[in-house]
Amino acid sequence: MTYVFPPAPIPSVPIKGSRQLFAVNRIYCVGQNYGDHVREMGGDPKASPPVFFSKPANSVVTENQNVNYALATDNLHYEVELVVALGTGGSNIAFEEAMACVYGYAVGIDLTRRDLQNAAKQDGKPWDIAKGFDKSAPISAITPCGVEKQLGNARITLSLNGETKQDSSLNEMIWSVAEIIAELSRFFELKAGDLLFTGTPSGVSGVKVGDHIEAEIAGVGEIAFSMVEK
Ligand code: MN
Repeated sequence: MTYVFPPAPIPSVPIKGSRQLFAVNRIYCVGQNYGDHVREMGGDPKASPPVFFSKPANSVVTENQNVNYALATDNLHYEVELVVALGTGGSNIAFEEAMACVYGYAVGIDLTRRDLQNAAKQDGKPWDIAKGFDKSAPISAITPCGVEKQLGNARITLSLNGETKQDSSLNEMIWSVAEIIAELSRFFELKAGDLLFTGTPSGVSGVKVGDHIEAEIAGVGEIAFSMVEK
């Protein structure tokens, strides 16, 4: 058997210190997972559990490549996030077993068409066009975590044109990595190759063509790229 046209390339992410690649299966994302960001968006952190949404696997942007300003928005926002890379998966994973699924960590940017997201929220519509667009998931190389999988209170930061905009700690996350894996696996069979974007702290704002974004999670990785024309 052959294909009617050549299959798309397998989306993949470099691994720090290795020539091997991490083949991306699915990208799941958590919304509203830092109390300060929930408040800045006008919500109450304790009112409801985090929401899950997803992005296509081929929305990753690697190797610090520049990112085209997205089509069909006038309010494209950055959101710096811890990204969890899974090496194994399953369904209905117990909280106690969840960390065994973690292969490594990266820092990623959940690019968001905020104008379309706000309209979707208002109208009770899906978030797909606000979150799952082309090049919406810039990501650093993945750092394998070995046996030490707890990141503790590692600092997570993002700067825009050299000015710090987001500066928080991973221990500000409302739901922990293990809780996210356990909860997500109630709804989806998680697989090796899945990436989990785990939510952003406060300080999100819009970008424009020509802006330069740098982000880092201490001990995990760093990413830097510029926004270029559509
Ligand atoms: Mn996000």
